Amino acid sequence: MISAREALDHLREGNRRFASGIRSHDTLTSEARRHELVAGQNPCTIILGCSDSRVPVEIIFDQGLGDLFVIRIAGNIVSPSQIGSVEFAAERFGTPLVVVLGHSQCGAVLATLEELARPTKNQSQNLRSIVDRIRPSVETLLTTELKDDPDALLQHAVRANVRLSADHLRHGSEILEQLIHDDQLLIVGAEYSMETGIVDFFDNAQESN
Ligand SMILES: [Zn+2]
Repeated sequence: MISAREALDHLREGNRRFASGIRSHDTLTSEARRHELVAGQNPCTIILGCSDSRVPVEIIFDQGLGDLFVIRIAGNIVSPSQIGSVEFAAERFGTPLVVVLGHSQCGAVLATLEELARPTKNQSQNLRSIVDRIRPSVETLLTTELKDDPDALLQHAVRANVRLSADHLRHGSEILEQLIHDDQLLIVGAEYSMETGIVDFFDNAQESN
């Protein structure tokens, strides 16, 4: 298995290809790879990303079959089933890297900000369960001058939400804590910019250097 640092470099290179409009041969012709993978998988990275249709992770990192173990949920939030999925891949496959991937213009984060500004009475319980997990990270931003600048507020809120999810994964599971302690797992936070196509690994990625 490769190291977390190598896995991170791999993603950075793939994203660079994507942002410059290059699609690699491997991700286009995957028939041989598909046959190869029937026997088992060995993904380099676990990604917890948002469900947003504009952020398909394999495409923005220019990766193919078997490369990424992907969990997608609106607002890239962490609840027990997300933790369980990460535990499963980290333990079963020895995957060394987890990336929590937020993105610019995130509708789930925006919906949370709107809910905090103007609470609705009849919001569905299921939707509320998502908003409630985003809320703690963005609530404090509304007490700063950012509250008067909607664009800046959303930008900060997206990153705050990524940091919260990454911390939740780092400390919400004994299994993951142990793997991190033993240097077998690195959890980093990143943001994908729809405007540029570039992923910025802004949270704890330096630890792997
Ligand atoms: Zn989103």
